[in-house]
Amino acid sequence: VEDSPPATITNGFRLIIDAMKLNGLDTIYGVAGIPITDLARLAQASGIRYIGFRHEQSAGNAAAIAGYLTQKPGVCLTVSAPGFLNGMVALANATINGFPMIQISGSSDRAIVDLQQGDYEELDQMNAAKPFAKAAYRVNRPQDIGIGLARAIRAAVSGRPGGVYLDLTAEVLAATLDAGEGARSLVEVVDAAPHQLPAADAVSRALDLLAKAERPLIILGKGAAYAQADADIRSFIERTGVPFLPMSMAKGLLPDDHPQSAAAARSFALAQADVTMLIGARLNWLLGHGRSPEWSETAKFIQLDILPMEMDSNRAIAAPVVGDIASSIAAMLAGLAPGRVKPDAAWLAAIEEHKRKNIERMAARLQANPDPMDFYSALNAIKGVLADRPDIYLVNEGANTLDVTRNVIDMHAPRKRLDTGTWGVMGVGMGYAIGAAVTSGQPVVAIEGDSAFGFSGMELETICRYHLPVVTIVFDNGGIYRGDDINRGGGPDPAPTALMKGARYEKLIEAFGGTGYSAATPQALGRALRDALASGKPALINCAIDPTVGTESGHIGNLNPQSKLNAA
Ligand code: ADP
Ligand code: MG
Repeated sequence: VEDSPPATITNGFRLIIDAMKLNGLDTIYGVAGIPITDLARLAQASGIRYIGFRHEQSAGNAAAIAGYLTQKPGVCLTVSAPGFLNGMVALANATINGFPMIQISGSSDRAIVDLQQGDYEELDQMNAAKPFAKAAYRVNRPQDIGIGLARAIRAAVSGRPGGVYLDLTAEVLAATLDAGEGARSLVEVVDAAPHQLPAADAVSRALDLLAKAERPLIILGKGAAYAQADADIRSFIERTGVPFLPMSMAKGLLPDDHPQSAAAARSFALAQADVTMLIGARLNWLLGHGRSPEWSETAKFIQLDILPMEMDSNRAIAAPVVGDIASSIAAMLAGLAPGRVKPDAAWLAAIEEHKRKNIERMAARLQANPDPMDFYSALNAIKGVLADRPDIYLVNEGANTLDVTRNVIDMHAPRKRLDTGTWGVMGVGMGYAIGAAVTSGQPVVAIEGDSAFGFSGMELETICRYHLPVVTIVFDNGGIYRGDDINRGGGPDPAPTALMKGARYEKLIEAFGGTGYSAATPQALGRALRDALASGKPALINCAIDPTVGTESGHIGNLNPQSKLNAA
């Protein structure tokens, strides 16, 4: 640890730690190295929990998901240039998803960087971060560390949350300052994410529109889950009787088996709704941009969001309600006269009918027991085990693995499903699993496609080193999408989408002292998962999935460009 300064003198290392502690930031996710090694040591010695990763992207993903779960910015610490850039992927993903996070990176000598004289890990990090961050700041004097962190905290959690970059130069870390002056320079942030009350006329406009609806629908997004207004959202939905659809990370905000859930009649509900109320969900690609053919041309929208400029971004919003969701939903509940919003009985009956048919179809797929196992039979085994465990966090990524898991595994509690999010990105798996386990102390099950797992698989070592209760399930079909493609040129190399056939992913975790299981049948998978969860220890279950099942690009094959010549 850095030389202890005399009591009357402090330095940059100590000031950033003091500033974090003053603001209740109690965990750092990072990778040590020049110039932040001593910062990590000193943080740990000062009572901040330090979780050391193998790659900055996973550390950043852990910080981002910690931010989503706690409404406090998750902190990621990296070295300069390449470490900084590795973390930037996670910071950009956090910003796109609206997760509060602060990436703190050490940086090289400003004088040399700015004249491009070729320093060790030379990079103008603050400017490189700007397009990917909600905000980016650099601290150039030790007396500015306190205000710098305060700005970073406010930027991360106020309004639409996002990722903030905070650059600490090696010079600032090492610089000394009179201890009294240092203490006075710290800032305790008061009310970092202030309530933003919706205007009364916006609330009544929204309620008027909902009252006129014959076929109303409510869509819950991860902004609604983030807001932690669970009880009010539930009572608004139950008191209006309006059917609801959860976006994937909002699953469990109301339980998936709630009678008003229209999830099993999703496409019907989207296409037929005459008024849709979006609560913390954007009309982006995940909702067909709010346009036909997914939606009716005459549908009208109510949107609850904290960001005014989100309104009309894809389609006209007839009743925008700008405010934080907790305040907005409370105001809507307060203005809701009993019986005023009343969905048509025919609408509810039609949704019921579609649900019934789709649930029957799904049950048949789940019950079929093909050999080798497919995504459905494997997930049916997992569903049986997780049904009694609403406490468990579910991390999920992959293509088919993502699509099928989202449809098969019901969630029963809010903010328990953590997945690829707004970008539909791969590589978040182990970072999210670690972030969820560290912040909650609860068990995590990560259901991963074999391809998706590969992006962060080395973090199994981190999971084992910190003894985290994470069970990773790899759906091993030997490829990206499917495992049966061939080299179309006939050469000896595997196809671009191919991965190792018959890989023994369970051996990876054994290298670090975790428990490996291999499962070729739903029965074996169910047994392994029960066993792994009962042990409370790190485990990996490798599931052999039929290489011939799976769809190219999963449910979003339409996004794969096709040559216009093919269509002609
Ligand atoms: P999903 O992918 O689940 O549909 P999105 O990430 O597209 O969700 O949308 C979440 C929306 O929620 C964003 O537009 C964001 O501005 C908004 N949001 C996030 N937190 C809050 C909050 N506390 N209050 C209001 N809106 C919020
Ligand atoms: Mg695969």
